[in-house]
Parts: sequence; structure tokens; C-alpha cells
Amino acid sequence: MGKLDGRVAIVTGAAQGIGQAEAIRLAEEGADVAVVDLRATACEDTVAAIRGLHRKANAYEVDVTNSDAVNSMVDQVNRDLGPVGILVNNAGITRDNLVFRMSDDDWFKVIQTHLTGSFYCTRAAQASMVQQRWGKIVYTSSTSALGNRGQINYSTAKAGLQGMTRTMAVELGPFNINVNAVAPGFIDTEMTRATARRIGRDPEEVKAERAQNIPLRRVGVPRDIANVVTFLCTDEASFVTGQVIYISGSPGRA
Ligand code: NAP
Repeated sequence: MGKLDGRVAIVTGAAQGIGQAEAIRLAEEGADVAVVDLRATACEDTVAAIRGLHRKANAYEVDVTNSDAVNSMVDQVNRDLGPVGILVNNAGITRDNLVFRMSDDDWFKVIQTHLTGSFYCTRAAQASMVQQRWGKIVYTSSTSALGNRGQINYSTAKAGLQGMTRTMAVELGPFNINVNAVAPGFIDTEMTRATARRIGRDPEEVKAERAQNIPLRRVGVPRDIANVVTFLCTDEASFVTGQVIYISGSPGRA
């Protein structure tokens, strides 16, 4: 018996990285999963891994910044897999630059993806959770919410998600919906590898350097985040809401 048998989850940005690990980990606990990302073809590995666990999974090609597309996707998931009970808002991008070089486009793209995308998904998915009187929503903040050079857009969005978490915990709590956020530190994914390459560095060297400054002396892997997200989605965490859990190998920001 899995702890999430019979539950239906949506994970955004689940084609790769942290979202992929979360989608698979939720399925290991018994959930059926809607694998949402910008390109359906990129979701094939995640879908195959979940089906290999004998859980249902479908790919949904959706840009979370498109309100109509998000609404249609959630309707479709309710029809395909059953009433949505779990939403993991994970889709994200970076467009780093110092403030004097930050373009309007880089500001808005990052704000829209993290903040507006999470809002659209929450608004659409909460309806079936309210009806079921059971739901779990997890947002993806970051240690960058505490302030990070070159990330005025990303850090602002990740701090904003902490406000969204607390407000949704207050609004949705009376319907037995738990709302929490995870705030990862440095996790080895394509996002952090691409950042290293962009500044002309070898991703493996950057990882080794970062690990030296982390009390646990390693960088994170996607499964480190997926384990905590899955715990928050089970009823073992049913009295935890409105919290931001830092997962960074350190007390906060390493
Ligand atoms: P990743 O490997 O780049 O994966 C992110 C996924 O989200 C990609 O598949 C991406 O698609 C998708 N995506 C981007 N924009 C989207 C949109 N508008 N609609 C739907 N899907 C979209 O990143 P990751 O490292 O796993 O990060 C996942 C989350 O954790 C993000 O919110 C990130 O900010 C957060 N986080 C990561 C770290 C870290 O160190 N890695 C630390 C703290 C927080 P494309 O590849 O096609 O763009």
C-alpha cells in the first residue's frame, strides 16, 4: 500500500530535473501523475518511468504562463486521471543578470513563469481539492529568496512564492488542503549546469566548489527535493501548512 494510492497529482516542469524526480517519487507512493511541461515529447522518459511503476501517467504540453492552457489542462486531467488532489508547482526558468543589465523581458519572463504560472495552476487545481475536502499544494521557492546577486527577477519571484504559500494555506486550510513550499539550495540539474556553462565554467568544478561551502559537503540531487515534497503530500504531514522547508544541506543558504 502506497501512501498516495488513489490520488491524482499534477507536477509542472516534470520533463526533467527536480520535477521529473518529484513525479516519479509521487508515483512510487501510489499516485497517478499528470506530467506537465513545455514540450510533450520531452516528458516521455518521465511518463515511461511512472507507467513502469504501474501507475497512470500522461504528458500534457502546457505553458504555465498561459491561463487558458492551464485551465484546459486541469479539466483534461480531471477527466483522464480523476479528481486532482495534489499540485506541485515546479516549472521554472532563470534569466540572470545584474540589475543594470536586466531587460524588461528577462524580468517579466521569470516573474510570469514562477509567480503567475503558480497562481494559474493553483486557481485551476484548487476547485477539485475543495470538492474532495482533501488537497496538497507545494510551491518551489529557493534559497535565492534570501537574496542572490544577479537574480533580482528570480529572487523576487521565489520570495513572492513564500507569500503565496502562506496566503493559500490560510484560504484553503478550512477545506483540508495543506499548502507548503520547498526552498532548494544548489541542486545538480540542467538549470545549474546551464548556469555554469553560461559563465564559462565546467559544471563539475562548480559543483565541487559549492560542495565545499555546504555543511553537509555535497550539492543536492533532485531526489533530495522529491522526498520532502512527497512527504508533504502524504497525510503524515497533515498538520503542516504554510511552511517553507529549506533543503540545502545547511541551515538556510550555504
Ligand atoms: P530544469 O532542469 O531547468 O527543469 C525545469 C523544467 O520546467 C524544464 O523541463 C522546463 O522546460 C520547464 N518549464 C520552464 N518554463 C515552463 C513553462 N512556462 N511551462 C511549463 N514548463 C516550463 O530546472 P530544475 O533545476 O529542475 O528546477 C525546478 C524548479 O526548482 C524551478 O522552479 C527552479 O527555480 C527550482 N530550483 C532549482 C534549484 C537548483 O539548484 N536546480 C534551486 C532552487 C530552486 P524547458 O527545459 O523546455 O525550458
